[in-house]
Amino acid sequence: MKLCASPNRRWWVAALALLPGLLAAQLTTRHVKGHIYMLEGPGGNIAVSAGPDGILIVDDKYSRTAEQIKAALADLDKGDLQFILNTHYHGDHTGSNAFFGGETPILAHENVRRRLMDEGQPAQAWPVITFPAQLSVYFNGERVQAMHYPASHTDGDIVVAFTGSNVMALGDLFFSGMFPYVDIPSGGRVSGLIESLDKLLLQLSDDVRIIPGHGPLSDLDDLREYRDMIVQTSAIIRAEMARGRTVAQTQRKGLPKKWAAWSWSFIPERRWIEIVYESYGLEAAGS
Ligand SMILES: [Zn+2]
Repeated sequence: MKLCASPNRRWWVAALALLPGLLAAQLTTRHVKGHIYMLEGPGGNIAVSAGPDGILIVDDKYSRTAEQIKAALADLDKGDLQFILNTHYHGDHTGSNAFFGGETPILAHENVRRRLMDEGQPAQAWPVITFPAQLSVYFNGERVQAMHYPASHTDGDIVVAFTGSNVMALGDLFFSGMFPYVDIPSGGRVSGLIESLDKLLLQLSDDVRIIPGHGPLSDLDDLREYRDMIVQTSAIIRAEMARGRTVAQTQRKGLPKKWAAWSWSFIPERRWIEIVYESYGLEAAGS
């Protein structure tokens, strides 16, 4: 994993330095529903379908967790890993691609392949099946549907619906209970993220179980609350922008206290304010 190439990568390095306790943690397998599981622990959450057709996973955390992932999947005792889907290209979601990719086909949006190649990742880490909009895999008795949501967290985000189980893996469109990271240099936009969340909320049914990119297993209310937080805080920040306040002035003033609990080590409130400024500033400039 190359971590020093861009300012965005430097943020990941800073986050990694802040989280030694978490990084030492082991993976935990959590049963979600039917044949769907979630692997929690360092890096993005992994969604797992384990059944008669074998195993399909959505995302694969860091390279250093590859052996642990392999062991956790073996414990499910449902045969071989058949497919990997990547929700986007970030290293905490694709880090074990090279470890598994030689034997298991990786599926992702076409921008994910391009970005992993541009990063200099080895060929085994590259998705071998890509798509521009959506793709279905018929696996373990249900349609597993991947849908692209443009310009959200990056320019290559997909959400994965386990349509029979009514379980969704949202990747980093959803940081449950936390301010989101939006990777603006990689094509992410706060406005696009809001648009994507609105589209999703129209489609999902009340009893859906949601595996977020980061954070605990969630439900529709958690997703609504997260969407509302983004809409409301970004409206406050944009009002400050419109009044000609600099990002530093807005950071000093801060957001209303009711949003304090959404801060976390990687995206504290001041960083979220910066992201909103950067994202809407670019849009105002026409890019
Ligand atoms: Zn990400």
